[in-house]
Order: sequence, then C-alpha cells, then structure tokens
Amino acid sequence: MIVILNNKCNLNKDEFKAYLKDISEIKTKIDLVLCPNFLNISEFKSDKIILGSQNVSAQNSGAFTGEISANILKSYNVKYCLVGHSERRKYQQENYHEINQKIKKLLESNITPILCIGETKEERDSKKYKEVIKEQLLSAIKDLSLENQKKIIIAYEPVWSIGTGLIPTNNQIEEIFSYIKSYIMTNKILYGGSVNETNVDTLKKINLIDGYLLGTLSLQEK
Ligand code: PEP
Repeated sequence: MIVILNNKCNLNKDEFKAYLKDISEIKTKIDLVLCPNFLNISEFKSDKIILGSQNVSAQNSGAFTGEISANILKSYNVKYCLVGHSERRKYQQENYHEINQKIKKLLESNITPILCIGETKEERDSKKYKEVIKEQLLSAIKDLSLENQKKIIIAYEPVWSIGTGLIPTNNQIEEIFSYIKSYIMTNKILYGGSVNETNVDTLKKINLIDGYLLGTLSLQEK
C-alpha cells in the first residue's frame, strides 16, 4: 500500500518544518510519499517518509530558466514525481506531449512517475470518460518500452472529485481501474479525489487498489 501526500502550493519554510516533524511521528507500515513544493524539497529530512516531487521539467538540465530537471530532483533524493495532475493540465496548459516527455526524463533518472489521469464532470455525464482516459493514458506512455510502462504508477483522479467532497462509487472506480489495466501493465494503481478518514473504509474494498493520492487530507493536522 502506498499513500502520496500532495502539499500543492502550501507551507512556507517554517510551516513545513513543523509539518514534517508532525507527520514523521505517524506510525505506519504503508509507504508514505511526501510531495512538498520545490523549495521545501531541500528542507526535507526523514528516514521514514519517502520524498516525491509535484512536478519536473520536460527538458534536460541546461538553459531553461525557472525549470527543475529530473537530474536535479534525483540529486535531492527524490524517488517519485507527479505528472499530469489536473491542476497543471488546467492552469499550466500542460499538454500530452509535455507529459510524455516528463515521464521519459523521470525514467531516465530512475524516478518513478505517478501519472494522474481522470475525466471532468462534463466528460463523465456525456459518457466520454473512457475515451478521455484512454487518450490521456496512451499519449503519456507513447514510445515507452513495456518494461518502462510497468514502472509508472497510475493515479485515477476524476477532476470532479478533487477537492469537492464528491467521490465515485466503488463500482465506478473498479470499472476505470480494469479499463486502465487493459491498456497498461502498470504495477500500481491509486485512487485520488476527496479521500478522507470516513470514506477510506469504503474505498479500501475496491478491487485492484494499491493506494491513495491525498491533497486536502495531506495538510490536515493529525
Ligand atoms: C489532488 O489534488 O490530487 C487531490 C486528490 O486532492 P483532494 O484530496 O483535496 O481531493
């Protein structure tokens, strides 16, 4: 079981130090991966929690002002990286090609990509959701060997569920998980979107689930 904590654009340096101290006290056997903002990556110290990143450049290191390459992340001991989060697709207009490039750069640096995919409310209501998920998935793994495809973790995050308190039924999630597994031999598949202490008991019963991606809950005091 793996749980990814996405801090998003939160926690200044002092807040992060206090937060890290707090979550380091959590006793758990699951793999906890923390994705702080870029600056807090350099403040990270823990022998229990695994370090992740929320983003990576689609370029190699070099003349790309403001970018952070996979090679730089690797030098900070980053083991996982989110790619294609719906907020980046929406606000940074991250496109299929960039997402595919980012995945390739991460794999070259031995960092595990966590590919986020999921449909909007309109796409679900108009029954286009499978088409959308297939397109997001196949464009992201374009030109990757089977061996590399297997290294990618997929996080199914319906856009209409992120930060809204709405969650799909277990049947709806299982339908998508099986659909994803029919296109990619990924070794792990996660669910993300409004997971909390109450609904996690229901989500745990989902067939094929390997873990969760948490946004809001990652910032809640324990
Ligand atoms: C997310 O942003 O990936 C996410 C899952 O957020 P939340 O848990 O707040 O829905």
